[in-house]
Amino acid sequence: MELEFLGTGAGVPARQRNVTSVALKLLDERNEVWLFDVGEATQHQILKTTLKPRKVKKIFLTHLHGDHLFGLPGFLSSRSFQGGDEPLTIYGPKGTEEYVRTSLKISESHLTYPLNFVVLPEEGVLVDDATFRVECAKLDHRIASYGFRIVEKDHPGELQVEKLQADGVPAGPIYAKIKKGEVVTLADGRQIDGKDYIGHAQKGRIVTIIGDTRQCPPIARLAANADVLVHEGTFGKQEQKIARQYFHSTNINAAKVAKAAHVKRLLLTHISARYLGQAVRDLQNDARTIFKNTKVVSDLDTYDIPFHGRKE
Ligand SMILES: [Zn+2]
Repeated sequence: MELEFLGTGAGVPARQRNVTSVALKLLDERNEVWLFDVGEATQHQILKTTLKPRKVKKIFLTHLHGDHLFGLPGFLSSRSFQGGDEPLTIYGPKGTEEYVRTSLKISESHLTYPLNFVVLPEEGVLVDDATFRVECAKLDHRIASYGFRIVEKDHPGELQVEKLQADGVPAGPIYAKIKKGEVVTLADGRQIDGKDYIGHAQKGRIVTIIGDTRQCPPIARLAANADVLVHEGTFGKQEQKIARQYFHSTNINAAKVAKAAHVKRLLLTHISARYLGQAVRDLQNDARTIFKNTKVVSDLDTYDIPFHGRKE
C-alpha cells in the first residue's frame, strides 16, 4: 500500500509542480491502483512512473475544478489505447458523467472498456468489499468538494502450521476447522483449541484524502486515527484570511486537524506555485510546530504505508 503523488500543485501547472493527482497503489492488496483527482497532464506524469493505466480500476474526484479534472478524458483514452479492457469506475460529484461523456463524444473517442459512474452522496459509503471500505463526506469549498476515508479491512491471523506440526497435529482437513478457531478432537483423543494456533490479526490501514476545502467538521471525522492524512496546504500561516476567503486551508489548519484527529502522518499537497525553495521549507516547518510528522510532498514522491501493529 503506497501513495504516489503525480501532481502536488494548486491552480495551474508550474515548472516545479503539476496540478493535482495522487495514486493509491494497492498492488499487493488487490493488484489495482486507484487515482484521486486527475489534473491536466496526469498521464504525462504517469509516464515517469511504473504505474500501468490498465491497473487503474477506480478514480475518485474530490471536485470538478479544472486543476483536478482536466487530465481525465486524456487518461481514459490512453488507457484504452494501452490495452485496458477491464471496467473502470469513476466516483465524482454530480456533473462528472456529463463532463466525461461529452468530452469523449465530441472528440469521437471510443473506449475499449466499460465506464461506470457513481455520484458522490453528501456523506456515505462508496466501496465495501472483502478488502476495503471507502467513505466520503462533503467539505466546504466554492463548489461541491469531498474528502475520502479509505479503510483497509483487518487481515485475519494466519494459521500457525509450524506450531501445529511441532505439537504433532498432522496436516489434513482438520486444519480448516482449526483455522476457524474451532475446538477439535484429534485421532489420538487430544482436544485442541484452534484459537491457540492462529496468529494475531493485522489491523488494516487507513488513508484519508481531503479535497480543496476550508476547515469544517467532516475533515476530522474522515481523518480519525488515519495512518496518513493527505490534506491541502494551499496557503501559509500569514494568509489565513485569504485562505478562508478562497475556500482553502493553510498549512496550520491542516496541522491542527491532523493533531486533533490523531493521525500518524500528514502529507501537505496542493501547494501554490508561489512557494519555492525556502518558502516550501517554511510551510513544512511552521506546520511541524503543531504536528511534528508533517511533510510537504513533491511531484513523484512515494510513501509506503506500513502496518502499524497487531490487533489484539
Ligand atoms: Zn484545486
